[in-house]
This record gives sequence, structure tokens and C-alpha cells, in this order.
Amino acid sequence: MSKRDYYDVLGINRDAGEEEIKKAYRKLAMKYHPDRNPDNPKAEEHFKEAKEAYEVLSDTQKRGAYDQFGHAGVDPQAGMGGGFGGFGAFSDAFGGIFDEIFGSGGRGGGRSNVYRGADLRYNLEISLEQAAFGTETKIRIPTMEVCESCKGTGAKAGTQPKTCPTCQGSGQVRLQQGFFSIQQTCPKCRGTGKFIAEPCGNCHGAGRVKQHKTLAVKIPAGVDEGNHIRLSGEGEHGINGGPPGDLYVQVHLKQHAVFQRDGNDLHCEMPISFSTAALGGEIQIPTLDGAAKLRIPEETQSGKIFRLRGKGIKGVRSQMYGDLLCHMVVETPVNLTERQKELLRELEESSRGERHNPRAKSWMDKVKDFFGA
Ligand SMILES: [Zn+2]
Ligand SMILES: [Zn+2]
Repeated sequence: MSKRDYYDVLGINRDAGEEEIKKAYRKLAMKYHPDRNPDNPKAEEHFKEAKEAYEVLSDTQKRGAYDQFGHAGVDPQAGMGGGFGGFGAFSDAFGGIFDEIFGSGGRGGGRSNVYRGADLRYNLEISLEQAAFGTETKIRIPTMEVCESCKGTGAKAGTQPKTCPTCQGSGQVRLQQGFFSIQQTCPKCRGTGKFIAEPCGNCHGAGRVKQHKTLAVKIPAGVDEGNHIRLSGEGEHGINGGPPGDLYVQVHLKQHAVFQRDGNDLHCEMPISFSTAALGGEIQIPTLDGAAKLRIPEETQSGKIFRLRGKGIKGVRSQMYGDLLCHMVVETPVNLTERQKELLRELEESSRGERHNPRAKSWMDKVKDFFGA
């Protein structure tokens, strides 16, 4: 009897997603559950068929094998039946394919699984000044170090790890899948090939313990939010002698009281008095290298931006300086005395009219246009 296609069994397309597969299976399982169909002998068959299809298609690895090889890729009872267990040479020839599909092959060609350690990320918050001029700082990071008590073996003092009885020390076991055999990491020793009867009390058999280490980090001048500095080999330890991963120090900038950064440019807001804005004058402005003087021309309006070339931040790559942009905010005077108010009223009386208020004039014209007057 030929087996039905798993996708047909569940009534789904070949590109169906996880949720769709689950939903289709649940529907069939409810419909054909033997408890619900005591008088229908076919129901149990349908139920089993749906369950089998679901078990394969809901597992990414098995689904991949099924998509490529059909039932022969996943089902022990498929195709040629049970009598072909002795296809040793044949299965080895296919071993490579399955290693790719199931990801169970050891990296680096060896028998045990050698892996590079994971990369780590450390979030470092620095001030705008530190980012602009560069800095050197120390960071404390958690790390797994070789356990002192067992010298990394994971076995209790005075004992030694034994050869794993499941895989005889190879770290790999062979599983029969249909007429192929698949090599997989030994589930008992997780690929180490060793078995610890009495684990070390200090590290509970892991061979490593959590500690902290302090690293010096050099932050180059000009770094910006989100930039990272790579510390090669300072990530997690490799597995079974693999190389360590890297540590990425990710830069975050603290809010600055005066400046906002935009690339290599800096922005700042400068409140100026009403009379300075009208008459012009010289004001003190902040820059990263200290105070500087800025000449304000007469008739300066609120919102006017003065650009100071080269007073921004030197780019970490371009090595070019950005600019400092000062945004003028004309301030309305507060806490006025009666005399001051009198002067302002006098000023107001004498300065009515469009000659003195060009912006109000142009605004009024727009409003008139809007109402069609
Ligand atoms: Zn083993
Ligand atoms: Zn230990």
C-alpha cells in the first residue's frame, strides 16, 4: 500500500506555516480521535496518519528531509520495508546529506563537536564629551573560567571522568532512519565522549565556574550611538577546544544638558534677550572646548540658526569636524517693574505698524487670503 503525501493528509499547501500545520492537525485529531468514533474502524487509521504527518511536518529538520526525500527521508517503515538494515556502505554514502539536513555533524572534521564560543555584547554608556574626545574605561563582565577544584575535568577531586558507555567515547551515536543511518551527537555525554560518575561539587560537573573579569576598553574619539568596539576573543569560551567568541562593546550616549548630537554636528539652544535680538550684541556660547563669543546682528529673529564651522565633533572615520548650530530663542522678559512696563508700552505705541513687524504683516496677509477677504 502506498503512503499518502503528508501535506495531502493534513490538507495543507507545501508552504504552510507552523500555525497552519498545527491547526490542520488539531482539526483532524478532534474529528478522528478513536474515543469519539467507537463505531468507525477507519477513524483510528486516519488519526494515526494525521499524527504521523504532523510529527514530521511540525519538526523543521524532519520536514526538510521529507521535502527532499519524501517518506524515505523520515519514516522507518517506508519504501523498501524492514529487511534492509544491512545497507552499511549505502548509509555512509548518504551520511553527509543527513548531517547537513540535521545539523548533527561535528564541525572541524573531528569526531567530537568543536564549536566557536558565542559572541557577547556589552552596553556601555558614555558622556558626549567622552565620545567626542575618546576615552579609556574598564568594564567588568561575567565569564566562565576553568574550575579550580577539578581543573576543568568536572569530576570530583580524586576521580577522573570515564569513557561514555553510550558512545564509547566517540561523542556520536548512529540512529537508524529508514534505510539510512544518521549520526547524531551522543545524548548522554552531549558529544564530549566522557561520563562523570561523581561530579565536582564546585562546578557541578561543568568544569567551569562563573566569574568576573575586568577589561580595559579604548573608546576612539568620535564614536556615536550604536557604534561598537570589538574585543577579539573576549566572548564566550569555545566548546571542546573551539576558539572563543568576540565581545562587542556597544556605545550608548548619555543625554547632554546643553548639546544634542546629530551625526558629527552639535545643536544647542541659545536664549537671547529681546533687546539683544533687536539691537544686536555679543553673547557667550558653549562649545566642547569651552566658551566662545558669538556676534548677534541686529534684528535677529527667534529661531535663527548660527552655524559655527568646525565646532562639532571630529568623525571617527572621516576625521572631519562637524559644525555647531546655535538656535536662537528670543526670550520674553518676566518680573517686570512698573517702570519697565511703562517703557515697553511706550515702545509698543511707537513701533506699531508693518515697518517694525514684518512677520506679523506677512502672517496677516496669509490669513486674509485664507478667508478670501
Ligand atoms: Zn557519549
Ligand atoms: Zn569543578
